[in-house]
Formats: sequence, structure tokens, C-alpha cells
Amino acid sequence: MNANKVQEQLNQIKKRIDASCRSANRNPDDITLLLATKTVSAETIKPALDAGETLLGENKAQELQEKYPLIEDNRAQWHFIGHLQTNKINNVLPYVTCIQSVDRLKLAQKLHNRLLKDNRTLDILVQVNTSYEESKFGAAPEHVLTLIEQLSEFSTLHIKGLMTIGKLSANSEETRESFRLLKSLQEQVKAQDYPGVDMGVLSMGMSGDLEAAIEEGATMIRVGTAIFGDREYPDSYYWNEQLSDTDD
Ligand SMILES: *Cc1c(COP(=O)(O)O)cnc(C)c1O
Repeated sequence: MNANKVQEQLNQIKKRIDASCRSANRNPDDITLLLATKTVSAETIKPALDAGETLLGENKAQELQEKYPLIEDNRAQWHFIGHLQTNKINNVLPYVTCIQSVDRLKLAQKLHNRLLKDNRTLDILVQVNTSYEESKFGAAPEHVLTLIEQLSEFSTLHIKGLMTIGKLSANSEETRESFRLLKSLQEQVKAQDYPGVDMGVLSMGMSGDLEAAIEEGATMIRVGTAIFGDREYPDSYYWNEQLSDTDD
């Protein structure tokens, strides 16, 4: 996809953000746009950086490792938004400022051990499976409070909020329910006042459902296809437990 097209689609997304903020009485400055760049080439990503975007999200360790040196742009900041196997931690940590997909204690423990060795800290979001779909990763909503209480013990992990992939269905009311559930979990975690736990970020909403997400309280939306065009792999390749190798 050429540079003009990317910038034109970015403008469209900005307009959609503005419009949903107007209808929800929110300030567009309070919404962060993350570009979901899986399968997108470095050449196609660069025009988005030239247009002023800074936040990129990748789903796979290997793809991140390959793409990072091709972009090498100090304007860019990378988040990891895909399922992370514990044996891939070392392949991801050098490149990212946040992992949005922390969904289990074992992963957090291993991240903490590695970060201690590297003498650094990391922002994380806790991914929640708000749609209860087998095919999605993420902590079960009823385990979120316990998990966050456990994660708050790890001094190297700075919990910044929650992330979810909303239910992808023709019925937009069901998608909205996913987002409402994440918002309500955010309130429940806040009420616990766990030391060091910040719940400012609600990462939810993608190309097809960003309006509903913003109306339901998203502070970060993750957009891929509406900016970069269709992908050749189905999302199940990235999201589905059966199709992707998993260690735990
Ligand atoms: C691919 C992806 C997105 C973006 O999805 P689009 O429908 O292309 O906007 C958002 N979040 C995650 C976790 C993704 O894997």
C-alpha cells in the first residue's frame, strides 16, 4: 500500500475517533492510537510514522525481531499485543516498552525474573478474555482480581491497565458487552487499591468496533486493517490456541 493511502486511511481513523468522542462527550486527546502492524511491511509502516504516529503493536516474537531493525526509528515505540510464550520472552523484551497481553501468573513470574536480571522495569496490561471464547487468550474475568493482586507483588512489572479483544460478532451489542465488562473490571480493580497498580489504560477497540469501545471508555484503540488494508492470514492464526503453538 502506498504512502498516500496509509496517510489517507489514518485521517479517516482520526475522524472516526473525533466523531465517537463527540457522541460520548469525551476528549479525543484522551484516546491513544496504537497501530496494529502484524503482517505489515516496514515500508508501509514508515508513512504512518511520518504522519506523526508513534505507537506500534506486534503479535509475534519473530515478526517483531525481524521488523524492528528494518524500521529502526527513534520516533517509534513498540508494544507487544499477541500471545506470549514464556520461551519467547527474551526475544521480545529488548524491543518493547509494554506487554499488553499478560494473562497468567507463570508468564508474569518469568518476565519478572528476566527483568530483575536486566535491572529494568516494564509496563504491562492484563489481557482479559471478555468474550469467553475458547479461541481467545486472556485471563477469565472472574480471575482478574486475584491475578492482579498476585502480579502486584512483582516489583519490575508496572501494571497500567487492562486489554481485551471484544467479541467479534455481527451483533454489535455483544461486542459492547465485552467492552462494558472490561470497564467494570477496571472499576473493581481500582476499588481494591492494590499498591503500585495503576488502572488508567483501557486498551480495547479495533478497526470494526472502535466507536463502541470509545463510547464504553477505551483510552487506547488498536487499529490494523482500517489503516493498512486486509491481511492475508486470518486472525485465528494470531488468536487461536489450536493453531498457534503454546507452551502453557
Ligand atoms: C490485529 C489486532 C488488532 C487490530 O485488528 P484490526 O481489525 O486489523 O484493526 C488489535 N488487537 C490485536 C490484539 C490484534 O491482534
